[in-house]
Amino acid sequence: SSLLEVVDLHKSYGAGTGRVDVLKGIDLTVVEGETIALVGASGAGKSTLLHVMGTLDRPTSGTVRFCGEDVFKKSDAALAVFRNRSIGFVFQFHHLLPEFSALENVMMPALIGGQSRAAAAAPARELLGEVGLAHRLNHKPGELSGGEQQRVAIARALVLAPKLLLADEPTGNLDMKTSDEVHETLDNIHRKTGVTLVIVTHNERLAARMARTIRLVDGRIETV
Ligand code: ADP
Ligand code: ADP
Repeated sequence: SSLLEVVDLHKSYGAGTGRVDVLKGIDLTVVEGETIALVGASGAGKSTLLHVMGTLDRPTSGTVRFCGEDVFKKSDAALAVFRNRSIGFVFQFHHLLPEFSALENVMMPALIGGQSRAAAAAPARELLGEVGLAHRLNHKPGELSGGEQQRVAIARALVLAPKLLLADEPTGNLDMKTSDEVHETLDNIHRKTGVTLVIVTHNERLAARMARTIRLVDGRIETV
Protein backbone atom coordinates (compact mmCIF):
# COMPACT_ATOMS: atom_id res chain seq x y z
CA SER A 1 0.00 0.00 0.00
CA SER A 2 1.14 3.57 -0.53
CA LEU A 3 2.88 5.34 2.33
CA LEU A 4 3.27 8.72 0.70
CA GLU A 5 1.31 10.34 -2.10
CA VAL A 6 2.62 13.58 -3.54
CA VAL A 7 0.09 15.26 -5.82
CA ASP A 8 0.79 18.24 -8.14
CA LEU A 9 3.32 19.71 -5.74
CA HIS A 10 4.66 23.20 -6.40
CA LYS A 11 7.19 25.13 -4.35
CA SER A 12 8.40 28.64 -5.05
CA TYR A 13 10.65 30.92 -3.08
CA GLY A 14 10.40 34.70 -3.01
CA ALA A 15 7.80 36.90 -4.69
CA GLY A 16 7.31 39.25 -7.63
CA THR A 17 10.30 39.52 -9.94
CA GLY A 18 12.46 37.71 -7.35
CA ARG A 19 10.27 34.63 -7.41
CA VAL A 20 11.97 31.30 -8.09
CA ASP A 21 9.82 28.31 -9.01
CA VAL A 22 11.71 25.30 -7.69
CA LEU A 23 9.18 22.46 -7.84
CA LYS A 24 6.87 22.66 -10.85
CA GLY A 25 4.25 19.96 -10.41
CA ILE A 26 5.58 16.80 -8.78
CA ASP A 27 3.44 13.65 -8.69
CA LEU A 28 4.95 10.72 -6.83
CA THR A 29 3.71 7.70 -4.92
CA VAL A 30 6.02 6.00 -2.43
CA VAL A 31 5.01 2.46 -1.56
CA GLU A 32 5.53 1.19 1.98
CA GLY A 33 8.91 -0.52 2.31
CA GLU A 34 10.41 0.63 -0.99
CA THR A 35 13.75 2.35 -1.51
CA ILE A 36 14.14 5.37 -3.78
CA ALA A 37 17.17 7.30 -4.95
CA LEU A 38 16.36 10.92 -5.78
CA VAL A 39 18.95 12.17 -8.26
CA GLY A 40 19.51 15.14 -10.54
CA ALA A 41 21.84 18.07 -11.13
CA SER A 42 22.63 20.55 -8.41
CA GLY A 43 19.76 23.04 -8.17
CA ALA A 44 17.17 20.67 -9.68
CA GLY A 45 15.08 20.80 -6.48
CA LYS A 46 16.00 17.51 -4.78
CA SER A 47 16.55 18.94 -1.30
CA THR A 48 13.44 21.07 -1.59
CA LEU A 49 11.33 18.02 -2.52
CA LEU A 50 12.82 15.97 0.31
CA HIS A 51 12.10 18.77 2.79
CA VAL A 52 8.46 19.07 1.67
CA MET A 53 8.00 15.27 1.68
CA GLY A 54 9.39 15.32 5.21
CA THR A 55 7.02 18.17 6.19
CA LEU A 56 9.96 20.38 7.19
CA ASP A 57 8.69 22.89 4.60
CA ARG A 58 5.15 23.63 3.43
CA PRO A 59 4.53 23.56 -0.33
CA THR A 60 3.25 26.57 -2.29
CA SER A 61 0.46 24.32 -3.61
CA GLY A 62 -0.32 20.64 -3.95
CA THR A 63 -0.89 17.81 -1.52
CA VAL A 64 1.18 15.34 0.48
CA ARG A 65 -0.74 12.41 1.95
CA PHE A 66 0.94 10.19 4.52
CA CYS A 67 -0.97 6.94 5.06
CA GLY A 68 -3.89 8.68 3.37
CA GLU A 69 -3.83 11.75 5.60
CA ASP A 70 -3.38 15.23 4.09
CA VAL A 71 -0.51 16.32 6.34
CA PHE A 72 -0.40 20.01 5.46
CA LYS A 73 -3.95 20.44 6.81
CA LYS A 74 -2.32 20.16 10.25
CA SER A 75 -1.23 23.16 12.32
CA ASP A 76 2.52 23.72 12.70
CA ALA A 77 2.40 22.27 16.22
CA ALA A 78 0.48 19.16 15.15
CA LEU A 79 2.80 18.77 12.17
CA ALA A 80 5.85 18.80 14.45
CA VAL A 81 4.37 16.03 16.60
CA PHE A 82 3.46 13.99 13.50
CA ARG A 83 6.95 14.49 12.01
CA ASN A 84 8.78 13.37 15.15
CA ARG A 85 6.71 10.19 15.31
CA SER A 86 6.63 9.27 11.66
CA ILE A 87 9.72 10.48 9.83
CA GLY A 88 13.46 10.10 10.46
CA PHE A 89 16.05 12.39 8.86
CA VAL A 90 19.72 11.99 8.03
CA PHE A 91 21.62 14.93 6.59
CA GLN A 92 25.01 15.37 4.94
CA PHE A 93 26.43 16.65 8.21
CA HIS A 94 25.49 14.50 11.17
CA HIS A 95 24.47 17.29 13.61
CA LEU A 96 25.28 15.11 16.62
CA LEU A 97 25.58 16.87 19.97
CA PRO A 98 29.34 16.95 20.67
CA GLU A 99 29.17 16.83 24.47
CA PHE A 100 26.95 13.73 24.58
CA SER A 101 27.90 10.08 24.01
CA ALA A 102 26.75 8.06 21.00
CA LEU A 103 24.16 6.35 23.22
CA GLU A 104 22.86 9.65 24.60
CA ASN A 105 22.66 11.14 21.10
CA VAL A 106 20.56 8.21 19.89
CA MET A 107 18.35 8.38 23.01
CA MET A 108 17.77 12.12 22.51
CA PRO A 109 14.63 12.02 20.30
CA ALA A 110 12.98 9.60 22.77
CA LEU A 111 13.96 11.76 25.77
CA ILE A 112 12.65 14.87 24.03
CA GLY A 113 9.47 12.89 23.29
CA GLY A 114 9.01 12.41 27.04
CA GLN A 115 10.31 8.86 27.51
CA SER A 116 12.30 7.99 30.64
CA ARG A 117 16.05 7.31 30.36
CA ALA A 118 15.38 3.65 31.14
CA ALA A 119 12.79 3.34 28.37
CA ALA A 120 14.89 5.27 25.86
CA ALA A 121 18.13 3.36 26.46
CA ALA A 122 17.04 -0.09 25.29
CA PRO A 123 16.04 0.73 21.70
CA ALA A 124 19.02 3.11 21.42
CA ARG A 125 21.46 0.34 22.41
CA GLU A 126 19.82 -2.09 20.05
CA LEU A 127 20.00 0.31 17.11
CA LEU A 128 23.63 1.16 17.80
CA GLY A 129 24.28 -2.59 17.71
CA GLU A 130 22.48 -2.85 14.38
CA VAL A 131 24.63 -0.12 12.83
CA GLY A 132 27.75 -1.91 14.10
CA LEU A 133 28.57 0.40 17.01
CA ALA A 134 27.88 -1.76 20.06
CA HIS A 135 31.51 -1.10 21.10
CA ARG A 136 31.16 2.69 20.79
CA LEU A 137 28.17 3.46 23.05
CA ASN A 138 30.07 5.76 25.38
CA HIS A 139 32.23 7.50 22.80
CA LYS A 140 31.53 11.14 22.01
CA PRO A 141 31.14 12.19 18.34
CA GLY A 142 34.65 13.71 18.30
CA GLU A 143 36.09 10.31 19.23
CA LEU A 144 34.39 8.59 16.27
CA SER A 145 35.34 8.39 12.57
CA GLY A 146 33.21 10.17 9.96
CA GLY A 147 31.48 6.92 9.00
CA GLU A 148 30.82 6.04 12.64
CA GLN A 149 29.37 9.50 13.26
CA GLN A 150 27.02 9.12 10.31
CA ARG A 151 25.97 5.65 11.54
CA VAL A 152 25.13 7.17 14.94
CA ALA A 153 23.00 9.74 13.07
CA ILE A 154 21.23 6.90 11.23
CA ALA A 155 20.53 5.13 14.55
CA ARG A 156 19.21 8.39 16.00
CA ALA A 157 16.90 8.88 13.00
CA LEU A 158 15.41 5.42 13.60
CA VAL A 159 15.03 5.37 17.38
CA LEU A 160 11.34 6.32 17.35
CA ALA A 161 10.66 3.65 14.68
CA PRO A 162 9.59 6.02 11.87
CA LYS A 163 7.78 4.63 8.84
CA LEU A 164 9.88 6.81 6.53
CA LEU A 165 13.61 7.55 6.56
CA LEU A 166 14.71 10.55 4.46
CA ALA A 167 18.38 11.12 3.79
CA ASP A 168 19.88 14.18 2.06
CA GLU A 169 23.33 13.36 0.65
CA PRO A 170 24.16 11.07 3.60
CA THR A 171 27.60 10.29 2.18
CA GLY A 172 28.21 13.64 0.47
CA ASN A 173 30.93 14.50 2.95
CA LEU A 174 32.60 11.06 3.15
CA ASP A 175 35.34 9.33 1.16
CA MET A 176 34.56 6.28 -0.97
CA LYS A 177 35.45 3.61 1.59
CA THR A 178 33.54 5.36 4.38
CA SER A 179 30.57 5.90 2.06
CA ASP A 180 30.44 2.16 1.37
CA GLU A 181 30.28 1.52 5.11
CA VAL A 182 27.29 3.86 5.40
CA HIS A 183 25.65 2.23 2.33
CA GLU A 184 26.01 -1.21 3.96
CA THR A 185 24.43 0.18 7.12
CA LEU A 186 21.45 1.59 5.22
CA ASP A 187 20.99 -1.75 3.40
CA ASN A 188 21.10 -3.70 6.67
CA ILE A 189 18.63 -1.35 8.33
CA HIS A 190 16.26 -1.61 5.40
CA ARG A 191 16.49 -5.41 5.37
CA LYS A 192 15.91 -5.65 9.12
CA THR A 193 13.23 -3.02 9.67
CA GLY A 194 11.64 -2.65 6.22
CA VAL A 195 11.65 1.13 6.73
CA THR A 196 10.80 3.09 3.58
CA LEU A 197 13.88 4.94 2.32
CA VAL A 198 14.15 8.03 0.14
CA ILE A 199 17.72 9.20 -0.40
CA VAL A 200 19.01 12.25 -2.27
CA THR A 201 22.41 11.36 -3.61
CA HIS A 202 25.08 12.12 -6.20
CA ASN A 203 26.68 8.77 -5.41
CA GLU A 204 25.89 6.40 -8.27
CA ARG A 205 26.81 3.33 -6.25
CA LEU A 206 24.36 4.32 -3.51
CA ALA A 207 21.65 5.08 -6.10
CA ALA A 208 22.20 1.64 -7.64
CA ARG A 209 21.41 -0.01 -4.30
CA MET A 210 17.93 1.54 -4.23
CA ALA A 211 15.01 -0.25 -5.89
CA ARG A 212 14.00 2.82 -7.89
CA THR A 213 15.67 5.96 -9.15
CA ILE A 214 13.75 9.18 -9.68
CA ARG A 215 15.50 11.96 -11.55
CA LEU A 216 14.55 15.60 -11.07
CA VAL A 217 15.21 17.93 -13.98
CA ASP A 218 14.50 21.60 -13.34
CA GLY A 219 11.76 21.00 -10.79
CA ARG A 220 10.00 18.15 -12.61
CA ILE A 221 10.32 14.38 -12.54
CA GLU A 222 11.97 13.18 -15.72
CA THR A 223 9.82 10.66 -17.51
CA VAL A 224 11.65 7.99 -19.45
P1 ADP B 1 22.74 22.13 -2.97
O1 ADP B 1 21.69 21.17 -2.53
O2 ADP B 1 23.29 22.99 -1.87
O3 ADP B 1 22.37 22.89 -4.22
P2 ADP B 1 23.99 19.75 -3.78
O4 ADP B 1 23.67 18.96 -2.57
O5 ADP B 1 23.21 19.55 -5.00
O6 ADP B 1 24.01 21.27 -3.40
O7 ADP B 1 25.52 19.57 -4.12
C1 ADP B 1 26.47 19.48 -3.10
C2 ADP B 1 27.82 19.58 -3.72
O8 ADP B 1 27.99 18.48 -4.64
C3 ADP B 1 27.99 20.84 -4.51
O9 ADP B 1 29.26 21.38 -4.21
C4 ADP B 1 27.91 20.41 -5.95
O10 ADP B 1 28.73 21.20 -6.77
C5 ADP B 1 28.45 19.00 -5.88
N1 ADP B 1 27.94 18.17 -6.98
C6 ADP B 1 26.94 18.46 -7.80
N2 ADP B 1 26.75 17.50 -8.70
C7 ADP B 1 27.65 16.53 -8.42
C8 ADP B 1 27.96 15.26 -8.98
N3 ADP B 1 27.31 14.76 -10.03
N4 ADP B 1 28.95 14.56 -8.43
C9 ADP B 1 29.61 15.03 -7.38
N5 ADP B 1 29.38 16.22 -6.80
C10 ADP B 1 28.41 16.97 -7.31
P1 ADP C 1 19.16 20.39 -5.20
O1 ADP C 1 18.98 19.73 -3.89
O2 ADP C 1 18.64 19.58 -6.35
O3 ADP C 1 20.55 20.88 -5.44
P2 ADP C 1 17.64 22.53 -4.01
O4 ADP C 1 16.30 22.00 -3.71
O5 ADP C 1 18.64 22.63 -2.92
O6 ADP C 1 18.22 21.70 -5.23
O7 ADP C 1 17.52 23.96 -4.65
C1 ADP C 1 16.75 24.19 -5.83
C2 ADP C 1 16.71 25.68 -6.10
O8 ADP C 1 15.98 26.34 -5.07
C3 ADP C 1 18.08 26.33 -6.15
O9 ADP C 1 18.09 27.27 -7.20
C4 ADP C 1 18.17 27.02 -4.82
O10 ADP C 1 19.01 28.13 -4.90
C5 ADP C 1 16.73 27.40 -4.55
N1 ADP C 1 16.44 27.49 -3.10
C6 ADP C 1 16.49 26.49 -2.22
N2 ADP C 1 16.14 26.91 -0.99
C7 ADP C 1 15.84 28.22 -1.11
C8 ADP C 1 15.39 29.23 -0.21
N3 ADP C 1 15.16 28.97 1.08
N4 ADP C 1 15.18 30.46 -0.70
C9 ADP C 1 15.38 30.73 -2.00
N5 ADP C 1 15.80 29.83 -2.91
C10 ADP C 1 16.03 28.59 -2.47
